Amino acid sequence: MKAEDDITYIKGVGESVAAKFKRLRIATVQDLVDYVPRRYDDYSNVMRVSQIRPGPVTLQVKIGSVVSRYSRKGLHMTEAMASDESGTVKLVWFNQPYRAQSLKNNELYFVSGEFAQNYRYFAITNPACELVSNFPVNTARLVPQYGLTKGLGAAMIRKVMKTAILSFRPLETLPDWLLNQEDLMPKADALKEMHFPESLQALQEAKKRLGFEEVFELTLASELNRQSYKNEHSLQIPFNEVLTKKFVDSLPFQLTDDQRMVAWAIFQDMSSGTPMNRLVEGDVGSGKTVVAVLAALGAMQAGFQVAFMAPTELLANQHAKSLHDLLQKVGFQEKLLLLTGSMTVKQKEIAYTAVKNGDSKLIVGTHALFQDKVVFQKLGLIIVDEQHRFGVELRKRLQLKAKEMPHVLSMTATPIPRSLALTLYGEMDVSVIAEMPPGRLPVKTEIQIPENREKLYAKVSLEIDDGRQVFVVCPQIEEDEAGRLSVKKIHDQLSRKWFKKYKVGLLHGKMKADEKDAVMNAFVGRELDVLVATTVIEVGVNVPNANVMVIEGADKFGLAQLHQLRGRVGRGTESSSCYLVLTENGEPSARLRMLETENNGFVLAEYDLELRGPGAIYGTMQHGELDLRVAKLTDVKLISSARDAAKQFITKDESLLKYPQLKARVDKLRTITNLN
Ligand code: ADP
Ligand code: MG
Repeated sequence: MKAEDDITYIKGVGESVAAKFKRLRIATVQDLVDYVPRRYDDYSNVMRVSQIRPGPVTLQVKIGSVVSRYSRKGLHMTEAMASDESGTVKLVWFNQPYRAQSLKNNELYFVSGEFAQNYRYFAITNPACELVSNFPVNTARLVPQYGLTKGLGAAMIRKVMKTAILSFRPLETLPDWLLNQEDLMPKADALKEMHFPESLQALQEAKKRLGFEEVFELTLASELNRQSYKNEHSLQIPFNEVLTKKFVDSLPFQLTDDQRMVAWAIFQDMSSGTPMNRLVEGDVGSGKTVVAVLAALGAMQAGFQVAFMAPTELLANQHAKSLHDLLQKVGFQEKLLLLTGSMTVKQKEIAYTAVKNGDSKLIVGTHALFQDKVVFQKLGLIIVDEQHRFGVELRKRLQLKAKEMPHVLSMTATPIPRSLALTLYGEMDVSVIAEMPPGRLPVKTEIQIPENREKLYAKVSLEIDDGRQVFVVCPQIEEDEAGRLSVKKIHDQLSRKWFKKYKVGLLHGKMKADEKDAVMNAFVGRELDVLVATTVIEVGVNVPNANVMVIEGADKFGLAQLHQLRGRVGRGTESSSCYLVLTENGEPSARLRMLETENNGFVLAEYDLELRGPGAIYGTMQHGELDLRVAKLTDVKLISSARDAAKQFITKDESLLKYPQLKARVDKLRTITNLN
């Protein structure tokens, strides 16, 4: 049996069982053995018959005196006597007529079940029963519990898993020197121990080995990417002191130290001769745009074009506006071009020409910017807003558009904890803008129960009367089975009842692009007092006059996401508030409480990572393939040793060709991009 064989190659797995496994995304032998148990139940305490008390018991016994009969109520019963040297106990099975044939005389069995009084006598009823000599998986051990699916029970999965584990020896995936150096179990042993551990300690060793391998693969992939990226021939963009100074002097504020430092790192990257691949992390409002403009100006002055990519049209529009204002300060505004999907064919044609002949130098748009129709004259820098990772595939496509590898600058307001950044984004250089521009007031945050909703909205009305605007955010567009509030229902309620005298707009992801734009523009233009929206407003949208946010169903969001959402308010000079409304009346979690006191996005993200895993930090950031199944991202020691090992692997000039399975995994990881 080979790893890539279909699971129907496993004895006892027919088409119908295989179809059920498919629902668990298990198609091959490899998929099967990679299926990680959710937890383990400890049945390893084997008792002597003389010790048993009512309750769950596991015994090691011989079974004899097997008789089948019908009870007075017509139930089929199989009765037997189980004995060890200390005594004898009765076993009873109901409606399992095959039992009598399957029990062998004079063989040692493990028997697990509930010892209890049954009618007139004590017995173990419907026990699980496995031959000691036959590698038991349901009794007398740490028993693995898997995620199940309809028609595929725990015992069946264990049975198939056992057959696979005993008849298939996976090839070693890691180099021997690495196993020795890190004191790791061989792969085959680790898989066997993960499914059917000999002991808790063996289980721990197995998890260590498998977790190490996951992080090793990820970091090896990103190190290799980083290397090949650095080996690309890249265009050089010299630092232009005169223009930089002119621009900085034109700003109505002083750059913060962090902004300066990040800008400086970017200038160094761009002039280094190898392509920049830098991620700038900074909380909402920390001033990333100015830094991006500094980079863009440098590139334009050196004669290159800049592509500025935003995740939504809405943001592209806003960026175009604020970039226009900033560029005007140094007379570069004519070189700006907005290119979006909602433009007419004619407008697009004009835009394509301006990009192609180089009249436009800074082109703002969504990732439609990289369609085949868009041909750059001389692309030198790509700025990506709110996209964490710019994958290899896309870079390759871009390389075809540019003669030399362009520089890439990514920006995000999602605070990515260090361990996560190192593992998932190891191929990028990361800079952090930690300090906020002076004078920013933190958003006052308060948790509310649904019962007080009416009072809350009355309070919010007062703010509207004062001329403020309000965001109301809702996790879902439509009502779900649980009857939780949807954005539509809230909009309905607010506009008909509590906010009857105000203008209330609705914005969600299922609306057409031009509808969304119209609503957003109306809100920005103060034609609307209230905007009821899903998280489409999450990234980047800037409405300085909006200083109240109500988040309905706040407990449905991750902390980092809530923090990002509330960053939408408090962009002006007024103090601002954010109300977190729970789904149900009751005590809020300690997790949610943190938002009331903590204003640092990184602290919140670290906390979420610890508590809920990487998926919680930013739903869309997680690429299925990047999900770690065994390793914990909070296991800093494991992560740093796996990273060191990956670097060592490269320094040793080890060839991946020697390790075909590792190569396959790493190759796949290298191509993953978030932009698809
Ligand atoms: P983000 O990092 O969320 O993209 P922006 O770049 O949109 O933040 O900046 C938010 C606001 O802060 C903008 O109005 C910008 O002009 C202002 N800003 C940026 N840097 C500074 C600074 N050093 N001092 C004061 N205000 C600044
Ligand atoms: Mg921004």
